Amino acid sequence: MANRTPLMAGNWKMNLNHVEATGVVEKLAWTLKDAKYDASKSEAAVMVPFTDLRTVQTLVEGDKLPLAYGAQDVSVHDKGAYTGEISADMLAKLNVSYVVVGHSERRDYHAESDELINDKAKVVLAAGMTPIICVGEKLEVRKAGEHVPFVLAQIDKVLDGLSADQVGSLVIAYEPVWAIGTGEVATPEDAQEVCGAIRSRVAELVGQEAADAVRIQYGGSVKSSSAPDIMAQPDVDGALVGGASLDPEEFAKIVLFYT
Ligand code: PEP
Repeated sequence: MANRTPLMAGNWKMNLNHVEATGVVEKLAWTLKDAKYDASKSEAAVMVPFTDLRTVQTLVEGDKLPLAYGAQDVSVHDKGAYTGEISADMLAKLNVSYVVVGHSERRDYHAESDELINDKAKVVLAAGMTPIICVGEKLEVRKAGEHVPFVLAQIDKVLDGLSADQVGSLVIAYEPVWAIGTGEVATPEDAQEVCGAIRSRVAELVGQEAADAVRIQYGGSVKSSSAPDIMAQPDVDGALVGGASLDPEEFAKIVLFYT
């Protein structure tokens, strides 16, 4: 792997209120500390519900925890009459580092398009945060053997108009939809095939330097038992972890793979 620090990010989805979040973050931090977690080898992060952000910020900053935190979505609008939405500026004010955009659950349940996801990535970057842009195919696409061209078409759209520097700074999460929350994990070869193809496409789009710098995660039913073989693939730079990130001891084992 080139000089990329893998990112092990937990996606809590709509789980854990702010009281429960305190317990999980504290347990995670203690487990990592006891295991002499080396943050220079992999970065640990949690993507939490909006209502948990202030609590997690207070814990991380107050106790100087080796943990980044982020949000699971953002509005494309700056401010105004958009009831229920949260702006990038509001997130940046909470010292948020990462924002997940284009998760398959947002694509499915909220009809988010690649074009909207591209706009969201742009507002996140403009506010000084890092988007984690999710792409991935559904089962019928994989069965038809069309997964690589399908994902590359998503990549072309979600990266549209971004500079080489911007692309090099962001995180792409390859999450085959058939593997999310199903217990069905992609094989290490499946993950490498698509992550490698994404990196090659980034090189074609904006140059080799950005392709060497961009971090590409795998996501989809990752557990501590399946993480090592997938994380060992040359184009996989960490994981986006859903269900397993709700258990701090299990998530710590995944984070500690690189330590
Ligand atoms: C996710 O939500 O991004 C995810 C990968 O979920 P899970 O690990 O539960 O499949």
